[in-house]
Amino acid sequence: MERDDPSSQILDCLIVGSGPAGLTAAIYLTRFHLSVSIIDSGKSRATLIPLSRNHAGFPEGIPGTDLLARMRRQAAQYGARLQNGEVSRLSHEAGRFIGQIGGSTVRARTVLLATGVTNRRPAMMDDACHDQALATGLLRYCPICDGYEVTDKSIAVLGTGERGYKEAVFLRSYSADVTLVAPEGEHQLTAKQRGDLAAAGVALLGHCTAIRIVSDRIALVSESKTRCFDTLYPALGSEIHSQLGGAVGADRTQDGCLIVDAHQRTNVTGLYAAGDVVLGLDQISHAMGEGGVAATTIRNDLAEATPLRR
Ligand SMILES: Cc1cc2nc3c(=O)[nH]c(=O)nc-3n(C[C@H](O)[C@H](O)[C@H](O)COP(=O)(O)OP(=O)(O)OC[C@H]3O[C@@H](n4cnc5c(N)ncnc54)[C@H](O)[C@@H]3O)c2cc1C
Repeated sequence: MERDDPSSQILDCLIVGSGPAGLTAAIYLTRFHLSVSIIDSGKSRATLIPLSRNHAGFPEGIPGTDLLARMRRQAAQYGARLQNGEVSRLSHEAGRFIGQIGGSTVRARTVLLATGVTNRRPAMMDDACHDQALATGLLRYCPICDGYEVTDKSIAVLGTGERGYKEAVFLRSYSADVTLVAPEGEHQLTAKQRGDLAAAGVALLGHCTAIRIVSDRIALVSESKTRCFDTLYPALGSEIHSQLGGAVGADRTQDGCLIVDAHQRTNVTGLYAAGDVVLGLDQISHAMGEGGVAATTIRNDLAEATPLRR
C-alpha cells in the first residue's frame, strides 16, 4: 500500500541524486534555511574515481568516495536529510511534485534532478576484471580527468565512429602511441576520419573479442591477435538518467540530456537539473557549479512565489 513518509511535510526541495551536483545544491539550500531531502540510489560516478588529481584544492589528489563523504557530512551538518533509495516515479499535481520511493511518497515545491549518467562498459570484460582494471588505472573513462596520467604511455581506445575518432584524436595530444579498436565488427569511419587518424599516427584494430589483465597491462584480443597496452579508454557513450524529467514533461536533447536555461531551470516550472544529466562538461567542478547555480535559482524562485521570512 502506498503511504506518505511519516516524517513527510511539503519540502522546499527534493533533490534526486547525491553526487557532486546534488550535494552542492543541498549544502547551499540548507544554508538558505530551506527544507531539503536528498534521495540517492548509490551509483555516483564519483565513487568510481580511485584518485582525482584534477579537482582543484586537493594537490595530493582525492578519492571520489572521500570527496562525497566530506560533502555528505557538510550537507547533513546544516540539516539536509539524506536517504538511500530510488525515486521510481515523479509526478506533478496542483503545483506540487510527488516522488515515489519504494512504498513511500515525498512531496515538494521544487525538484532538482542531479541523477547523472552511467558509462557503457565493454561487453567483452567481466565485472571482476573491469573493477580491478579501473582501480589500478588500466581502465579509464575520462580523458579530460586523467589523460595527463597516461602521458607517453601506450593507449587503446575502444570505440569507433565519431565518438571513438574524437577520443583517439584527443588522447593523441598525450601520447604518440594511440590505437583505436573497434568494439564489434569493422570500424565505422568516414574517409576523412581515417585520413585524419592516419595523419596523426593513430593505429586501427578491428573487432575486439576479449579484454583481460595480463601482469600489469591490459590485453585486447583483436583480429585473432593479442595486443597489450598501458591503459584502455572505452568510448562507448553513456546512459543518461533523465527519465524522471521526461515523465513530467521536461525537454531533452536527442541523446536524452535534460535541457536547462542559464539558471538550471527546465521548461517545467519548479523542476531544475544539474550535473552530468545536463548537456555539458562531465566533470566534478562543472557539476558543483551547476548545483550551486540551481540552488540559488530555486531559492530565488521560491522567494518570488512566497517571500521567505524567519
Ligand atoms: C572512472 C571515472 C573517473 C572520473 N574522474 C574524474 C576526475 O578525476 N575529475 C572530475 O572532475 N571528474 C571525474 N569523473 C566524472 C565525475 O565523476 C562526474 O562528472 C560527476 O560524478 C558528476 O556528478 P553528478 O552529481 O552529476 O552525477 P553522479 O556523481 O553520477 O551522481 C548521480 C547520482 O544520482 C543517483 N540517481 C540516479 N537516478 C536516481 C533515482 N531515480 N533515484 C535516486 N537516485 C538516483 C545515482 O545513484 C548517483 O548517486 C570521473 C568519472 C569516472 C566514471
